[in-house]
Amino acid sequence: MKNTFKFILAFVVVACFAFITPTDNGSKKTINVVIDAGHGGHDDGMTVDGITEKDIVASIAKKIKENNSDKNVVIHLTRTDDRFLSLKDRAKFINDLKPNLVLSLHVNGNENTEASGVELYISPKNVMYENSKKIAEDLNFRFVTNHNLKSRGVKDANFTLLRDTAYPTITVELGFLSNENDRKYLTDDNQQEKIAVTILELISAL
Ligand SMILES: [Zn+2]
Repeated sequence: MKNTFKFILAFVVVACFAFITPTDNGSKKTINVVIDAGHGGHDDGMTVDGITEKDIVASIAKKIKENNSDKNVVIHLTRTDDRFLSLKDRAKFINDLKPNLVLSLHVNGNENTEASGVELYISPKNVMYENSKKIAEDLNFRFVTNHNLKSRGVKDANFTLLRDTAYPTITVELGFLSNENDRKYLTDDNQQEKIAVTILELISAL
């Protein structure tokens, strides 16, 4: 009697596992993403009317980490407070971590206050250029679709961080602090939250 019960129990256990397919979340690979908030410490980045680039990008980076509910995604921030990090320090952090993607967040500025919109940069000198390009185009599409943002497109650049990392790396200029509309958008808590959600959607689709 006891053995029959054990046999039935074993059968039930095996039957239950038979329905777990390899595509279930439990077996999905972890996606490691570095969110690099540009500037920090004595380096304010772009500044207009006391509003600093370093604070805007740090706030959005924090929101990306806080809003992440995908258990397959791990968000790593290069800085969690207002401190200076050299580009060399950032590149070392990235190359030691070996992430699936790096997004370096920045905010633009121009003497021409009419200049506005989001702009994405990748480097042909990065070994993962083609991969970076594909992801950057996807992110560009999501920004244009989900937000009231003009896009200036995906461009090539020779920025140190793009060049010195061996993983897909994109510099994301989220808008122009020198443009009144972009500035309102970039400093609005709800809009920052929406930017974070769009970036998380991109990451979950990797
Ligand atoms: Zn910057």
